[in-house]
Amino acid sequence: MFEPLWKEVGDNATVTISGWEKMSYTSCDENICWFLEPEFASEVLRLHKIVNNAATNGRHIIVGVGSTQMIHATLHALGAIKDRHPVNVVSAAPYYSMYPGIVDLMKSGLYHWAGDAAAFRGDDNFIELVCSPNNPDGTIRHAILGNEAGKRVHDMAYYWPQYTPMRGLADHDIMLFTLSKATGHAGTRIGWALVKDKEVACEMAKFITLNTIGVSKDSQVRAATILKVISDGYEFPKPNGAVQFFHFGRHQLADRWRRLRQAVEKSGQFSLPRFSPEFCEFFKEHAETYPGFAWLRCEDQKINDCEGFFKRINVLTRSGKYFGVGPEYVRISMLDTDGNFDAFIKRISSLDS
Ligand code: PMP
Repeated sequence: MFEPLWKEVGDNATVTISGWEKMSYTSCDENICWFLEPEFASEVLRLHKIVNNAATNGRHIIVGVGSTQMIHATLHALGAIKDRHPVNVVSAAPYYSMYPGIVDLMKSGLYHWAGDAAAFRGDDNFIELVCSPNNPDGTIRHAILGNEAGKRVHDMAYYWPQYTPMRGLADHDIMLFTLSKATGHAGTRIGWALVKDKEVACEMAKFITLNTIGVSKDSQVRAATILKVISDGYEFPKPNGAVQFFHFGRHQLADRWRRLRQAVEKSGQFSLPRFSPEFCEFFKEHAETYPGFAWLRCEDQKINDCEGFFKRINVLTRSGKYFGVGPEYVRISMLDTDGNFDAFIKRISSLDS
């Protein structure tokens, strides 16, 4: 979805790395995260400051191969510093469908997947994954387990102005972000964590050291350039209009959500979540919520497998059963290319009501 904007940016976002550059493993010996490229770190700090979405003061930045590796690193770190094992990893349903697989992939002795946080009946031996705005349903989430001695990881992949009103500075112990959702560059495979506690940051860096001996410098340089273009667009707007990335993203998503809601209403067979406008501190106005996914419920009692129903009209969705709820729900990407999104709207509009 973001590709047309990056085409418009043109060579300002092009990266050239000579054959002799960025050859060593190491980026910064003194840093806990010794493989963190300084120019990437400073562009991360700069963009968070402009958007004002996450506290960075006194935080350690850890870079990873997407936020997927960050999740593995975080679980390892929190598991390693807990004294009872395995730690129960939970998340409130509907939760991001990859969490169970990521948590149990390593068959770690330190932690294991324990399902829906709302059904958790243990003491403080837990890690709660809090995804806010939530994948799949776009809601703003807060931790639901109250025991202070438990651990929390805030997956904030979608806490950017194109998706949701900015409600101020998030200030959690561990916050995860990813280039894939912030800018659309999923293939660059860059994620980062803002971490309060030094011991946790050290354990995360140790995980990445032993897992991949750091993170591609080439990708970090590209990520830095992409983030810089976005920040420049807001800090140095040109009279003839430099790209304003978040404005573009919000405009695209607003249009897609309008078309989807229209088609869903016409069909009469489905429902979508509703969100009230809230004041956005970035756009300085009341703004709507436009999640990166549509969390669609089949209201027709005759359809008991919503994913199968969509498959018959050649629309690929992901069933609610992977998110800890029932097959009457499906998740549909709102971030696909213009052509694919147009085809999807056409197909859903052609359903008889
Ligand atoms: N967390 C959430 C909530 C996500 O939606 C995704 C991507 N779908 C990820 C983490 C993983 O992102 P990445 O591409 O950075 O590995």
